[in-house]
Amino acid sequence: MKTATKNTTATKAKSETASTKSKTTSKTSSNGTIKAKPSAAEGLRELFVDSLKDIYWAEKALTKALPKMAKNASSENLITAINDHLTVTEGQITRLEKVFSLIGEKAAAKKCDAMEGLIKEGESIMEETEVGPVRDAGIIAASQKIEHYEIATYGTLAAFATTLGEDDAVLLLEKTLSEEKEADTLLTEAAYNTINFDANEEDQDLE
Ligand code: FE
Ligand code: FE
Ligand code: ZN
Ligand code: FE
Repeated sequence: MKTATKNTTATKAKSETASTKSKTTSKTSSNGTIKAKPSAAEGLRELFVDSLKDIYWAEKALTKALPKMAKNASSENLITAINDHLTVTEGQITRLEKVFSLIGEKAAAKKCDAMEGLIKEGESIMEETEVGPVRDAGIIAASQKIEHYEIATYGTLAAFATTLGEDDAVLLLEKTLSEEKEADTLLTEAAYNTINFDANEEDQDLE
């Protein structure tokens, strides 16, 4: 982030003295367009494969993050929801490997900046809450942000696969999409049924 800002500043300074010179070292052009890397996707298929690698990394990261969340949760209902989703997530990783193989690509992970950030946010919510219903409410909030990110991702991947005529991949991606939606619903139910109510009660007791 700091480097990008520095580059932009440097570019501005440079463009003042040599405005016609092309700025090949900068990420952003003077008109605000982000410049493509030499390795940039050449078509939708490459973007699809890159996006698969991104969510493959994200799902793997979740298999490490979910047990931490379960250890920090107090409600049995929530612990069960998280542990069940861990098992589901492991199945989703295997399913992604099938998608890679169906489209003739090697399964590979590419760091997902968004999921890294969402997991970090979950960790800070835990640091900022005491163990109990309030931390549970925070864990649900963080988990739902994660599920919504996955819902958006698998919806997009299924649409890309449809456009590319990868019909078998579409079925697998839609299966995962429905699992992510189910997880989100279970978390909402956990929040409404017990946790947010208890969290509120605890606040009232403190007043
Ligand atoms: Fe998932
Ligand atoms: Fe992503
Ligand atoms: Zn990502
Ligand atoms: Fe999920």
